[in-house]
Amino acid sequence: MAKVRHRSLQLIEDLPPVSPPADTEHVRSLVGELLKALGEAPRRNGLLKTPERVAKALQFMTKGYHQDIDHLLNGALFPIEYDEMVIVKDIDFFSMCEHHMLPFFGKCHVGYLPNKKVVGLSKIPRVVDVFSRRFQVQERLTMQIAETLQGKLNAHGVGVVMEARHLCMMMRGVEKQNTLAVTSSMLGAFRTQQQTRAEFLKLIRRSGVGDLG
Ligand SMILES: [Zn+2]
Repeated sequence: MAKVRHRSLQLIEDLPPVSPPADTEHVRSLVGELLKALGEAPRRNGLLKTPERVAKALQFMTKGYHQDIDHLLNGALFPIEYDEMVIVKDIDFFSMCEHHMLPFFGKCHVGYLPNKKVVGLSKIPRVVDVFSRRFQVQERLTMQIAETLQGKLNAHGVGVVMEARHLCMMMRGVEKQNTLAVTSSMLGAFRTQQQTRAEFLKLIRRSGVGDLG
């Protein structure tokens, strides 16, 4: 298990907020080339539609490049006096590692301390999705979710923990089948106040509603 913490955003490689649409036709022909280069015969029956399927699948798995966070959150921020911690945990996510273009996937847990403003709860998994559906490294993905929520909510603090299995570790190289990579990003009160961070970590460890009380 690897635990990684980041103190700054210097590692973030910024992209434009919304990228132009994918060139599906070009991707399709490149997948044909790739199959050929790997020793396959792309014209055999079973593979005839594969380049098109792969192009569509890749486009779906990287659709986050084309989604606009401001548009997503538009109308979903509400003024409120509630100032207790809000937690959305066990959010399933699927991403692709940018080093091997292979999937990594797992659970994301998000908490924040509102500052006169909350976001509709269903939007938090959507934010996780926008940043997951790209080529990523898990550390940057975790930071981008935390920084985005912190910025859009002007919260007193945000905590994000992600636990994932990486196919590039499981299928090749070290072949470590049961390794879980855990990353966290703690901002504001989640970084400065031990008690806040401890409360968050305790709440996300509970396995379900049956444990409450
Ligand atoms: Zn990888």
